[in-house]
Amino acid sequence: MLLDVAPDWVLPIAYLLAAMMFIQGLRDMTHPRTAMRGNLISAAGMFVAVAVTVVWFEIISPIVLFSGLIVGTAAGTVLALRVDRTEMPQLVGVFNGFGGGASAVVAGAELIEIQIGGGVLPTEVAVAAVFSGIIGAVTFFGSMVAAGKLHGVVTSSAVRYSGEQAVKLLTLGLALVAGGYLVTQPDVLAAQLQGDLLPSYWFLIAAASLLGVLLVIPIGGADMPVVIALLNAYSGLAAAATGFVLNNTALIIAGTLVGAAGMILTVIMCESMNRSLTNVLFGGFGEEPDQAEMDDIYEGNITETSPEEVEMLLDVADRVVIVPGYGMAVAQAQHAVAELAGELADNGVDVEFGIHPVAGRMPGHMNVLLAEADVPYEQMRELEEVNPTFSQTDVVIVTGANDVVNPKANTDESSPIAGMPVLNVSEAGTVIVNKRSLSPGFSGIPNPLFAEGNTSMLFGDAKASMQDLVNLYKENN
Ligand code: NDP
Repeated sequence: MLLDVAPDWVLPIAYLLAAMMFIQGLRDMTHPRTAMRGNLISAAGMFVAVAVTVVWFEIISPIVLFSGLIVGTAAGTVLALRVDRTEMPQLVGVFNGFGGGASAVVAGAELIEIQIGGGVLPTEVAVAAVFSGIIGAVTFFGSMVAAGKLHGVVTSSAVRYSGEQAVKLLTLGLALVAGGYLVTQPDVLAAQLQGDLLPSYWFLIAAASLLGVLLVIPIGGADMPVVIALLNAYSGLAAAATGFVLNNTALIIAGTLVGAAGMILTVIMCESMNRSLTNVLFGGFGEEPDQAEMDDIYEGNITETSPEEVEMLLDVADRVVIVPGYGMAVAQAQHAVAELAGELADNGVDVEFGIHPVAGRMPGHMNVLLAEADVPYEQMRELEEVNPTFSQTDVVIVTGANDVVNPKANTDESSPIAGMPVLNVSEAGTVIVNKRSLSPGFSGIPNPLFAEGNTSMLFGDAKASMQDLVNLYKENN
């Protein structure tokens, strides 16, 4: 064992270094400019933690280790490279699920290890294993259902049935009973694992797996990004619990960081939609579009415009704010949008982007796309910063956004987005809304902004429309 030759402090210091790298990585990820560096630092921290554990304890033969690393790296790289940007939320969901599943399996493996060694199962280890098993299995199966809903392979409708809460409680009860049995009867663990008794840990895993499916299946596909953020927090908690099972400091710290970060993200997302977590988990969201209400709002009140007319407005504008939304991501219009902003700025126009915290389908969706298109960070303004500036703005171009600019959030208390902070774009001189039709966004409700006196609709795909504007603007300036 390397323990025999290396001083005792090497392992804790290496874990401390890894933990510091995780924390620095998270800190860097709070700003788009440093986010990529943060990702690399965190990944390097994980490499340090894994490498030092493997070498220190000689827990695995190099051939097994490298096969695992190669298979894992190849699978992760292929998935990350091949998946469309609009499919990122489900990929994150699948990765969370793997984290939770791994925690549950590793905790189980440790129980077997203790049994093989003939050791007694300490209560604190049993409690941590129960925690890890339940949360890890819920996370794995919950995440798979969430990713399936987002990807369209599992129904995105909220599957509800009578007695739903009772069935969930019963399943949780079964998992807890199995867990309680494991904790209070550690002496029969060996017998359980040899098959003489029902192996309570695997029974617990089966019940928790079912619970994971039951918890997510009644939630509509529209709320899956929030569910995925919550499951991300769960995967961290499961990892931290497994850290206690293994007595591994690096895993405890990393898991706790993921748990806390995931929970904060969940709360931010709920606040940005002005919904409680309970409403997300048990409430149901998204309406079937009401055609009569739409006709009432839109009929006779829609002004259509053309790229040529919009270009003329831009020619004389001093200040322009671009508000991107989910449609920009679908159309992959970020490069055309960035080029337009660049051309305007080169001609002395004050250009900014108004970014709503839940625009798109995942947190930071717009920031990531715009950063990829090299939009300067100084041009990206958050909701609270940009809202007071609309009254001094000549032209707002809303491209592929809908709910995040819907005034119903302020005016209609019965609407599903009531109270959600929105971008008050109609305070600007002219509002151009670019989308393909009058169809609703994520919430399924009509948007009275389209019918307002100073709004003109530029119908068309976001990428094609923005490219038309760039070409026309370049010709004339
Ligand atoms: P919305 O979903 O409200 O609207 C997007 C609009 O984009 C649609 O109305 C659609 O209209 C248009 N669109 C689609 N494809 C294209 C295209 N190719 N070119 C041009 N337009 C297109 O998006 P927002 O970003 O405004 O709001 C996000 C919504 O998602 C909010 O309700 C938020 O609560 C919710 N949400 C966000 C999460 C996040 O983390 N960001 C998580 C969970 C929910 P048309 O079909 O007519 O083109």
